[in-house]
Amino acid sequence: MKLPKFKSPEEEAEFWEAHSFAEYMDDLEEVELEWAPDEDACPNCGSPMRAESVDIEVDDGLFLRGIRRYRCPICSTVKLAEEDLARINRMDLRIKRYGLAGILLQEELVKRGSS
Ligand SMILES: [Zn+2]
Repeated sequence: MKLPKFKSPEEEAEFWEAHSFAEYMDDLEEVELEWAPDEDACPNCGSPMRAESVDIEVDDGLFLRGIRRYRCPICSTVKLAEEDLARINRMDLRIKRYGLAGILLQEELVKRGSS
């Protein structure tokens, strides 16, 4: 199977939600050459990591939306994109400084029951 070219990590994440990684094993090396900046290589085993978009809990029941994360399909190592890690840290800082009431209306945040 031939992998399509992705315009963004979000697009790739969507693709992998709908497709099995195993179908594209043969095409893996080509993917690595075409679209693997250094941050897409697994720090543990060097395999190309899969981009996915997730919500990260920054406080009790409060989630920061659309965080880009990379997961290694071989050894399951997970890491966050640098700018998204910075987003989380910034949000963390604001929660500490202003409390939750000051930031709840931000659209990048979503509140869910912490079940
Ligand atoms: Zn790995």
